[in-house]
Amino acid sequence: MKSNTPPDSISYDGQEPPPHPTIRSLRELIDLVSGRSFKESELLEPSGLAEILPFPFMGLVGQTEMKVALLLALINPAINGVLLLGPRGTGKTTAVRSLFDLLPDIKRSACFYGCLPQDIESGGMDAVCPDCARKYAEGLPLTKSDRVRLVELPLNTRIDDVVGGLDDRAQVHERMRLKRGILAEADQNILYVDEINLLGDDIVDATLDAAAQGKYTVHRGPATATYNARFTLIGSMNPEEGNLRPQIMDRFGLRIIVRGLQEAHERLEAYNRVHAYTENPRQIIEHYRRETDQARQDVQEARRLLPQVELPDDLAHTCIKMIQRLKIDSLRAEINLFEAARAYTAADGRNKVELNDVQAVAPMCLRLRRSSFMTRYFQEQTEEDLEIEAELKPVQN
Ligand SMILES: [Zn+2]
Repeated sequence: MKSNTPPDSISYDGQEPPPHPTIRSLRELIDLVSGRSFKESELLEPSGLAEILPFPFMGLVGQTEMKVALLLALINPAINGVLLLGPRGTGKTTAVRSLFDLLPDIKRSACFYGCLPQDIESGGMDAVCPDCARKYAEGLPLTKSDRVRLVELPLNTRIDDVVGGLDDRAQVHERMRLKRGILAEADQNILYVDEINLLGDDIVDATLDAAAQGKYTVHRGPATATYNARFTLIGSMNPEEGNLRPQIMDRFGLRIIVRGLQEAHERLEAYNRVHAYTENPRQIIEHYRRETDQARQDVQEARRLLPQVELPDDLAHTCIKMIQRLKIDSLRAEINLFEAARAYTAADGRNKVELNDVQAVAPMCLRLRRSSFMTRYFQEQTEEDLEIEAELKPVQN
């Protein structure tokens, strides 16, 4: 497929990236660090620790495109999430969980009801709970600084766990109260859904609707509640085990084809690091600590810069023309492309998107969007319309 061809500026496993005129800070960091090897001889004694510490992101071998996509998702939630497609054992889940140490800080409501100062600014004092109204009047903050969390939606989950259901304990007290579901917990966080193609339709639909609207409403008996659900969705799947419905595929901003490492020396390096991680996770996390801290700062700084990043009109027109030439119909294609390019620009510390930025992210935004069914369908409709018009001509004369 033509749209799968990587542009010059993205390196793939085992291929040396061509020289690039512009230095990309975040990508450069990824490329440099991922190549820094971990020697078997450096390994300390097994730690014997049973704790679960995620593998360090900066220690993942290769897979540059996947790593860039995940960082872009941390920088700009408006890219509408990432879908990782690939066979088992290619490190998709490891990569997502490894984001743990890079998750940025955000302002979060300090209140159980999720009250925010902007609620008061738009809806007055009645828009928040009495406690927060009092705090606001006294000039106290309604938010606190908190880290973005990685929330996982397990495969065997039920719809009531996802959207929230009646709280059994509350019913004993005859007060019908609703429990918060996973989607509400994911507000302002990352929601990771492994094997998304194997989830029930009701759960996938609820998740995607919440992701698109940033909130959702639950009705259970007489109880109704609306929750914020402004999360970044990351899904992964093995295409061998069943495909996603096309309308679901369309909802993901970035699509990454994850293949196994192609070069023997990379596979050996990956083995060494995984072995070291299994023996003593803290040691390999410390091995990449400096770069991990640097990458986390870069993400935080890019998030701060993002609102100032502009996409020039003429470049936007060029992008739309390209999307039309590729015969992609969904308007989400350009929205996601523009937002991904803005995040990429912010990661480089600039405030104006250039063609290079678009080229770097275009394949991940545009691949798997064309539908041969729709192309055929439109063609047949055009032909039919021409036939109808031809038949109408004698009537008009
Ligand atoms: Zn409140």
